[in-house]
Amino acid sequence: MSGINMTRRGLIGAGGGAVAATLAAGMVPAAARIQAGTGARVAGQPMPDGVKLPATPPRPKRQDSVGFAIVGLGGYALNQMMPRFVDAERAHVAAIVSGNPDKLAKVGDAYGVPGDARYSYDRFDEIASDDRIDAIYIVLPTGLHADWAVRAFGAGKHVLCEKPMALSSADCERMIAAGRRANRKLMIAYRSHFEPFNVEAMKLMSQKAVGDIRLLRTEQSYRMGPTTPRENWRVSRALAGGGPLEDYGIYGLQSALYLTGEMPESISATTFRPTGDPRFAEIFAHVGSQWRFPSGAVAHLATSYDSAGTNFAHVRGTRGALIMDPATSYSGQKMRLEGREPRELNPGDPGVQFARQLDHFADAVRDNKPIRTPGEMGLRDTRLIEAIYAAAERGQTVRLAPDGRMRG
Ligand code: NAD
Repeated sequence: MSGINMTRRGLIGAGGGAVAATLAAGMVPAAARIQAGTGARVAGQPMPDGVKLPATPPRPKRQDSVGFAIVGLGGYALNQMMPRFVDAERAHVAAIVSGNPDKLAKVGDAYGVPGDARYSYDRFDEIASDDRIDAIYIVLPTGLHADWAVRAFGAGKHVLCEKPMALSSADCERMIAAGRRANRKLMIAYRSHFEPFNVEAMKLMSQKAVGDIRLLRTEQSYRMGPTTPRENWRVSRALAGGGPLEDYGIYGLQSALYLTGEMPESISATTFRPTGDPRFAEIFAHVGSQWRFPSGAVAHLATSYDSAGTNFAHVRGTRGALIMDPATSYSGQKMRLEGREPRELNPGDPGVQFARQLDHFADAVRDNKPIRTPGEMGLRDTRLIEAIYAAAERGQTVRLAPDGRMRG
């Protein structure tokens, strides 16, 4: 596993065992819950860098368009998702929720959100009586997803939740149960399921375009700049869990599942945390895992916050290979089939993934259509993340049931 220090010494010396033990036990750090309840650290968060607000407020295209309240006006909401609502047929921004009054004013004006549909976190529960809002889109730090999803269901709304679903399988189960009690939809925003390259790759693999899959390799990494857990939630254990695996490596984990079409039967893993680096005071720098599938296929997954950027998925079968690099970006995907008839594939514009995801959710809300990426999928993936940390912590291969639960 290139770039990954496989020794246990660094991890134990840095106290990483405690991190892994907490994560493996499925415990949600208390700090995440406290912040979720109060939104205390949120009030002063300024507008993230590079935000371009629309020059004219977009309007819903259809009468039955689903109205979303966006919770958390950070980088992904403002730079990626909110600008894509204009491409969706059946989804519009009906309300915004933020702890920063200045941001509420600027973003609200740009998106044409009425003054009384701009909510602070403290006023969130009033959303229950706001009929303009059908669904809540949770774009908050991961450690806050579960509590806000439960609050959203409590307000009688449907929930689209950013990936990863939550930091423990117990929290995922809590979210699913709250959605069932409220009789509302829950979807995890796994955008690759709506992105043409990945959709085509799923189809090709199910048609055995590379023969029987034998080996799969995924890597997602980038080098995080200097920061600390106080400054950046992505390096805070309470809000980000173990770090790169939940945030970025989840794309490789997902690819391994949807490209093979199988669940692993066993996992072994390694984590590494250097000492004395404030970026990794609470989270891991790298996580590597090896999976074995019932078919005999073997997958190697690596993810890192401390190595030069990459994002690829390689599948090697008995008759050829599928190379996706970059595999799951916002744009610029590349994909080629190797084998008897090698060819570059270009199945469509990756930029459509955002609007397609929104419309898919809107169709589920309006027409009761099944959700391609439901809460159960997020739960399954969170169980696998827990298994990876447990395997690394125990220094042993972990065996899994078909639903991703650890056997013993
Ligand atoms: P960000 O830091 O840019 O924004 C987070 C937002 O949450 C900010 O507006 C912040 O004010 C708010 N917030 C509320 N409570 C907070 C607290 N206690 N601490 C810190 N911030 C708090 O993060 P982001 O990149 O927008 O990520 C948000 C979510 O979106 C995460 O779940 C992340 O995994 C997900 N995401 C998904 C993709 C994707 O491609 N699907 C890409 C990036 C992020």
